[in-house]
Amino acid sequence: MRLALHRAFDLCCARTESGTNQMTPTVMTNEIVAVGSGALHTLRRVLSRDLGDRAAVCLQEAGYAAGEQMYESFCAWLPTFASVQDPAELEASALGEVLSAFFEQLGWGQLTIAPAGRAALAITSTNWAEAEPDESVSLPSCYIASGLFADFMGRLSGTPVAVMEVECRSMNQPHCRFLVGAPETMETVYDALASGSDYESALPT
Ligand SMILES: [Zn+2]
Repeated sequence: MRLALHRAFDLCCARTESGTNQMTPTVMTNEIVAVGSGALHTLRRVLSRDLGDRAAVCLQEAGYAAGEQMYESFCAWLPTFASVQDPAELEASALGEVLSAFFEQLGWGQLTIAPAGRAALAITSTNWAEAEPDESVSLPSCYIASGLFADFMGRLSGTPVAVMEVECRSMNQPHCRFLVGAPETMETVYDALASGSDYESALPT
């Protein structure tokens, strides 16, 4: 049975339990390609210049398409880091640290995971590679990550999820924050943001 998303709500801020391996072996990179973060920044700028609002959709689709291979790589790497064979065996309390180690070793950055209300998770990163702190854009712009997390977290939880970035270092905010939840929950948050409310008050408590 796969790790249910709600399990992660319970203790996802806690640290890895003592039985886990604190070494950080190299992430298996079969079919995973490393590029400099400058390529991601340029890709977003060029697509935004040439496609306008459609750039976000294109980059999200690209991120979503990466999810399957990233998740397969995660499954192959996990036993070397956390001494479990399958993500379903992973304690919810270890989820944040394990995902942070995985994405950091791939060069994306560290992250933390915490409940956001009773129906969503917040993935927060202070050094996500896709962000560009000097850009001062008006909207959260880590589109590849949004698509990637949607596919990846859906596979991890065994249920379709939607992801929305609600804070972003490219907007000169201190971190990027992605909300993960059921599509209908994220739709509610989206509608609230569109009407001028803040996302915290839109999340079910
Ligand atoms: Zn961002």
